Amino acid sequence: MTTMSRRRFGGLAAGLGVISATAGLEHAAMAAGPAKIVIIGGGPAGATVANRLKTADPDIEVTLIEPKETYTTCFYSNHYLGGFRTFQSITHTYDGVKKRGINVVRDFAVGVDTVAKTVTLANAAATLAYDRLVVAPGIDIKFDAIEGYSEAAAEIMPHAWQGGAQAWLLKKKLLTMTDGGVVIMTVPLNPYRCPPGPYERACMIGHFLKTVKPKSKLILFDAKSTISKQAVFEEAIGEYYKGIIELNLSNEIDDFSVARVDAKSGDVVTKAARTERAAVANIIPPQRAGVIAAKAGLMDGDWCPVNPDNFTSTKVKDVYVLGDAAIADDMPKSAFSAMSQAGVVAADIIADLSGRPRTAGTYRNTCWSMVSAANSAKIGADYKPGTKDGHRVLTAIDPFISAAGESDDKRRETFEESAAWYDSAVTEIFGTSITSAAAP
Ligand SMILES: Cc1cc2nc3c(=O)[nH]c(=O)nc-3n(C[C@H](O)[C@H](O)[C@H](O)COP(=O)(O)OP(=O)(O)OC[C@H]3O[C@@H](n4cnc5c(N)ncnc54)[C@H](O)[C@@H]3O)c2cc1C
Repeated sequence: MTTMSRRRFGGLAAGLGVISATAGLEHAAMAAGPAKIVIIGGGPAGATVANRLKTADPDIEVTLIEPKETYTTCFYSNHYLGGFRTFQSITHTYDGVKKRGINVVRDFAVGVDTVAKTVTLANAAATLAYDRLVVAPGIDIKFDAIEGYSEAAAEIMPHAWQGGAQAWLLKKKLLTMTDGGVVIMTVPLNPYRCPPGPYERACMIGHFLKTVKPKSKLILFDAKSTISKQAVFEEAIGEYYKGIIELNLSNEIDDFSVARVDAKSGDVVTKAARTERAAVANIIPPQRAGVIAAKAGLMDGDWCPVNPDNFTSTKVKDVYVLGDAAIADDMPKSAFSAMSQAGVVAADIIADLSGRPRTAGTYRNTCWSMVSAANSAKIGADYKPGTKDGHRVLTAIDPFISAAGESDDKRRETFEESAAWYDSAVTEIFGTSITSAAAP
């Protein structure tokens, strides 16, 4: 077995705070060369694991596989749609990651041999060997879930649920839409990436329409009957976007799940047989873990089961799955969650490779949503692994949520808190800080 370098072990233990500083270095396997950790996916989950490992021990060989040259965050892409941020301010290079001594391979992982412990890349003949593999590919869109929707249709009716070009396309369509047009959003059942994200987006598109295209409106069709931060969003729609946003939640009589779309005509048809013609359609389909997770045999249904103590795969040995691809029970699919999981994963890899006791992690999440200028609400909790019906599960403890009717000062404070979080998050993920957009 390959392990970490002996020389760095003490500093690493102190750095992660997971191993007693007085612990000896007598583990039998410590004599071998530096450990090789391969990470698939350079988003908040994968890049944060890479950073935590490399910070703890510069001698560990950390390879991060990511096909994109730059990463545009989905988080705060709604602020971009609303006109509160530029595209550049949510787009980050991997230069800062490389400066940390992380080997960033610009490629796409197409296969994993979990017996030989190697990863195959799309554009390289040689495979990458690993001691521990971290799989953090985020989501793929289930294009076959909605009749008429496809990758080609998404170029006309963007989902904008994976960062970058799709968010830019949706913004372009909003900017070029004739005033008086109808924007239609469709939202799937849980679980999906960022539970409150669609409603923050609705508010941000609502703000854009109110200020730039005042004769236009937004109709939202939702497959669910209840939604995240419901009181806050319903209040915001009533207060700021009356006559602009029409929110249709499903109920016992009407199922507002989208049944069919026609990218050519712009028609969106719900299961309740309501048809609307969109000038701009934002179709958010059901999702699943990135395809490499299926190729590596990590999936159960659409997502990857993990041990909530440390996010090791329950399917394949020496593999971790975290971020949106993992089944994290009560913990929502968010960048904040992914980064919290990343700290536990890095600590567990180090404990495992050095033969030290592995302790169950604890986790945290906060999701902020801006509902109008400098007016944000939040929801969050801590998460602890425990046993339920004989299975290890993650359960929320001490949950908190912004109330409807909060003062403007309180909402501005929450907005500023969220802007500060964005800066610190991208500094940790990409090693480059970005100046917050000024409070509007
Ligand atoms: C509109 C919107 C708003 C949001 N707002 C917030 C928010 O305010 N706060 C918050 O915390 N979260 C928010 N989120 C959620 C957040 O964006 C995701 O939860 C987060 O990006 C998940 O991180 P990840 O690393 O698991 O996946 P990703 O960010 O998707 O990163 C995965 C990376 O893996 C790469 N990849 C995929 N397959 C392969 C492969 N085979 N080989 C190599 N690389 C691969 C991809 O290119 C990608 O860069 C929002 C999401 C949306 C859509």
